[in-house]
Amino acid sequence: MSGCLCLPCNKRPTPKAGSSAATKVDSLQKKPTQQPPPQPPSKNMDAVERLKSGFQKFKTDVYDKKPELFEPLKEGQAPTYMVFACSDSRCCPSVTLGLQPGEAFTVRNIASMIGPYDKTKYTGTGSAIEYAVCALKVSCIVVIGHSRCGGIKALLSMQDGSADNFHFVEDWVRICHPAKKKVQAECKMLPFDEQCSILERAAVNVSLDNLKTYPFVKEAVANGKLKLVGGHYDFVNGKFETWVSS
Ligand SMILES: [Zn+2]
Repeated sequence: MSGCLCLPCNKRPTPKAGSSAATKVDSLQKKPTQQPPPQPPSKNMDAVERLKSGFQKFKTDVYDKKPELFEPLKEGQAPTYMVFACSDSRCCPSVTLGLQPGEAFTVRNIASMIGPYDKTKYTGTGSAIEYAVCALKVSCIVVIGHSRCGGIKALLSMQDGSADNFHFVEDWVRICHPAKKKVQAECKMLPFDEQCSILERAAVNVSLDNLKTYPFVKEAVANGKLKLVGGHYDFVNGKFETWVSS
């Protein structure tokens, strides 16, 4: 997510100066990192033409040169990984982890969150998890948080009891509300940005715990056929860390 997910803060009534809410909003709006982001090349091109030229480059440079990679994929897929990553345009896991086509069954959503087993609320992620575990039989599910995640900032900025500004966003990021409360209780002396950094990892752990509420995940883990791994990509410092969920 770009900083745009902080928009809920911008749309809220302006808190009184000196309040904790004002401090948090200020921390999102006045940092140097909130300068207009650099414009990608596609901003200067017709959007559809950019896609066409991008594919043509991929076809010439990759697809046509690696038949040993792409020919077997015509018959099916047998990915090792299921990857959950944020929709943020800065952290594509295939790019940052060098994952090849056919290697990772991937879900990207706001803040790479996974809700608990619920056949009515989280059918998108639930169906992907079920297919990855039961049909594709992936051996590793990786949930990756990242630095400066707009979804995490939005979650930490939300005031208890205040009205939602979006139709979906706030309710989605509340999946990791338990992690937010824990971070706020244990790290309240830290600056907002440091709390965000801690919450980026804590939210991953909530999602890993939620994964274990899916019966087929629980069973595969118990049988030693599936490993659950947390990850964090720090694109500010160029670091990637992982940890195995216990
Ligand atoms: Zn994000």
